[in-house]
Amino acid sequence: MEHIVIIGNGIAGITAARHIRKLSDKKISIISAEADHFFSRTALMYVYMGHMRWRDIEPYESWFWKKNRLELKKAYVERVDTDNKSLHFKEGGSITYDKLIIATGSVTNTFGWEGLELNGVQGLVTKQDLENLEKNAPNNKECPRAVIIGGGLIGIEMAEMLRTRNIEVSMLIREDEFWASALPTSDAEMISKHIISHGVDLRNNSELDKIIGDADGNVKAVLTKDGEEIPCTVVGIATGVKPNISFLKDSKIETDRGILVKRNLQTNIENVFAIGDCAQQRIPVGLRPPVEAVWYTGRMMGEALAQTICGNPFNYNPGNWFNSAKFFDIEYQTYGWVFSEERRKDYEAQFHWKCKSNLRCITISHHKDTGQFLGINTFGIRMKQEVFDNWLNEKRSVDYVIANLRKANFDPEFFRRYEKEILKKYQALNETATL
Ligand SMILES: Cc1cc2nc3c(=O)[nH]c(=O)nc-3n(C[C@H](O)[C@H](O)[C@H](O)COP(=O)(O)OP(=O)(O)OC[C@H]3O[C@@H](n4cnc5c(N)ncnc54)[C@H](O)[C@@H]3O)c2cc1C
Repeated sequence: MEHIVIIGNGIAGITAARHIRKLSDKKISIISAEADHFFSRTALMYVYMGHMRWRDIEPYESWFWKKNRLELKKAYVERVDTDNKSLHFKEGGSITYDKLIIATGSVTNTFGWEGLELNGVQGLVTKQDLENLEKNAPNNKECPRAVIIGGGLIGIEMAEMLRTRNIEVSMLIREDEFWASALPTSDAEMISKHIISHGVDLRNNSELDKIIGDADGNVKAVLTKDGEEIPCTVVGIATGVKPNISFLKDSKIETDRGILVKRNLQTNIENVFAIGDCAQQRIPVGLRPPVEAVWYTGRMMGEALAQTICGNPFNYNPGNWFNSAKFFDIEYQTYGWVFSEERRKDYEAQFHWKCKSNLRCITISHHKDTGQFLGINTFGIRMKQEVFDNWLNEKRSVDYVIANLRKANFDPEFFRRYEKEILKKYQALNETATL
């Protein structure tokens, strides 16, 4: 019986395993060093904040694995020998495979700052990071102040987590506004104000120089490049993530930032595949980044690869870009492409509307010559993915999208609607728009 071995029990690895099981009788082994069972990484914050227990973020009951003949092994793979099709564990021992799926996710990105090794300095990616945060920033007065280095999606989650325990939080960001590398300035400005309104000391144009420790090896302050010392007992590193591939350095598997794969997710070695955050497309798919560290793309890659492994060759084909997140009280969704100022395409024009409350806004991008709708960012107003997906596929115009925005609205009944206001602003800016 063919033996499929999967390294990593995150969304990518587990989706591949589930779908291979649905489609075949192959022997499947799943190895992970992190946790006994698959859990929802995106929900780590809710465990810290007390909204969920650990078992609530494990989507499958403990009997699921045995029932589906998914053999679990808790171990760290430190060497992959593709000549002999074997994996070697740090804890000792090895396993052989017929086909190997690498789904090892991401690790925190750091930039070699002095002081990274101090107690109290940590990222937020793994179960162990969550346990460390519980230790470093417990639910009492032992952690008077934290400094988060970097903004972005992990930084904002850390800030919200710490603020629920009334811990003073400073956040250092290099840009003028929060996440300005990804969001248009108008969106980033609104979110920055919202973050500040939640008591976060958001410091723009501010960079870390080094982290300072005390005689016992505990963090006591950070020093910024402007020479300011900010006392703290916790430093959250939120300067992005990178593919978790260091264990492959002596293998024959080709890597760059991530594990290089073709569209069918195969590496340079015939029976070895990579999926999820650790994979890097040799040829990027459309405007998507070659390494996509998002939940649903890991799931899609897992599904696509299961087909290939079970004899139905399939390419990873993710369709239109979409994503969602939450910035304290403001939900964010994005469909298609709306670029930040630094990444803006020369053909891209943007229409922006903001509610007076400073809690809702949208930015719609469109082709400045043809008027074709290219994407939307929506904050505080829930919109339907399916509707925008269709409009993007149908190459609708920006006029059409704004005139029909109510069809995309997904807010519950009795929520205030803003389509008329949005339309009014758009018409005022575009006297020629035929709506
Ligand atoms: C705090 C946080 C919040 C997030 N929020 C969102 C969100 O709101 N929306 C969104 O789309 N995405 C979000 N993401 C990103 C999303 O969680 C990831 O894209 C996704 O979990 C990646 O899945 P994966 O299966 O590729 O890898 P992972 O889930 O990282 O799983 C990889 C597994 O492989 C194991 N492993 C690695 N190396 C080895 C080895 N050598 N030996 C054995 N085991 C190994 C790891 O321990 C881990 O268990 C968030 C991420 C974080 C950290």
